[in-house]
Amino acid sequence: MLAIRSHFLNHFNDAPALVVKSPGRINLIGEHIDYNHGFVLPAAIDKFIELAIGKRTDGAMHMVAVDLGETIILPMHNLAPHATVWVNYIIGVVDQVLNTENNNASIEINLVSKREDLAAGFDICIQGNIPLGAGLSSSAAIECAVLFALNELYSLSLTKMQMALMAQSAEHTFAGVHCGLMDMFASLHGEKNKAILLDCDSLDFTYYPLVLDDYSIILFDTQIKHALASSEYNTRRFECERGLAIIQEKYPTVKTFRDISLEQVEACLAFNDIKGLKVYQRCKYVVEEMQRVQLAVQDLAKGDMQAFGKKMFETHTGLSNLYEVSCPELDFLVEAVSNNENVLGARMMGGGFGGCTINIIKKSAVEEITKTLTASYAQLMHKELAVYITSIEEGTHLVAE
Ligand code: ADP
Ligand code: MG
Repeated sequence: MLAIRSHFLNHFNDAPALVVKSPGRINLIGEHIDYNHGFVLPAAIDKFIELAIGKRTDGAMHMVAVDLGETIILPMHNLAPHATVWVNYIIGVVDQVLNTENNNASIEINLVSKREDLAAGFDICIQGNIPLGAGLSSSAAIECAVLFALNELYSLSLTKMQMALMAQSAEHTFAGVHCGLMDMFASLHGEKNKAILLDCDSLDFTYYPLVLDDYSIILFDTQIKHALASSEYNTRRFECERGLAIIQEKYPTVKTFRDISLEQVEACLAFNDIKGLKVYQRCKYVVEEMQRVQLAVQDLAKGDMQAFGKKMFETHTGLSNLYEVSCPELDFLVEAVSNNENVLGARMMGGGFGGCTINIIKKSAVEEITKTLTASYAQLMHKELAVYITSIEEGTHLVAE
């Protein structure tokens, strides 16, 4: 990969004002509980988007996606979702800065006085090595890189959390994806060898050491995305709301899933039809996963990666059997490593019905396991397995010359 600085120089005949790197992310545990008032445990990784940026004076944005060989030029005014997908991740956050009333970050800052500067336009080059659509949040990495760069270039004085909220709004309005906050939060707040426990309600967060020593985090990418994903996601949200409402009838003090015990799930969600059974299963998973995340961070605090890994397997079982968002390919990949003494933990990661599994594997065994799994995946699933070896790295930052 030619340095982004050189690309910028080639395109614009000038050196960039600054260079920013923004990483993709993984989520170690806490799946499908962000929208149920739970906690997630993401970390930033060594796959990233890199950008170079410099100011213009003619009220235009010149945007270059190096990896795609595409250049798009747009005026700074009348911003609206664009037909070229990657452009939306840039102009979406520009819109957040230029039109504060459109963003949900309740930002009472000096944005207004800075708008004139920004409205004069900029040149930008982006490139990256985050596999697209693998669930590692390349889109959030672009949004965070751009917002971080604008914040520096125009002295906007935004906090990382404000930037995360603005990037999330940008994804909602310009990419049309109603995502949670985790991806943007993790890309911006990541720290080397640390996982971040994020309270999806209060947005409080705590860093925990992720001491991997002889182990690596490996992602196995099924390279499939079953069409079920979005309709089933909506069904899950509905089933959880239904379960919560039933429990609240009996226990009026219960506000969210946080207040619910397994005993209450068992007591309230007796079922006599298939719909009732599904609601019971979903709620059981959510309550169990909430408890699991709290125990898992204690494992990290103690440096007990064995115990932590075991919980990842338990999460997978819950997602597969109770929450029913897995698929044969994901189950196969987790099952195949579940009795391997060199694998501490494995589970499907993300929304489900495809995407990656996340695995904690002894470094000395990675090559052998990868080889075996690639062969058996090809033979049984008739698909090529993609493998990403990751390390845990710092979040969005400026790159010195
Ligand atoms: P994810 O965020 O899980 O990776 P998305 O579909 O949300 O998947 O975002 C992927 C999109 O992000 C791509 O379709 C592309 O538009 C954009 N993108 C990611 N990486 C790059 C890159 N290196 N250069 C240009 N655009 C990129
Ligand atoms: Mg995305």
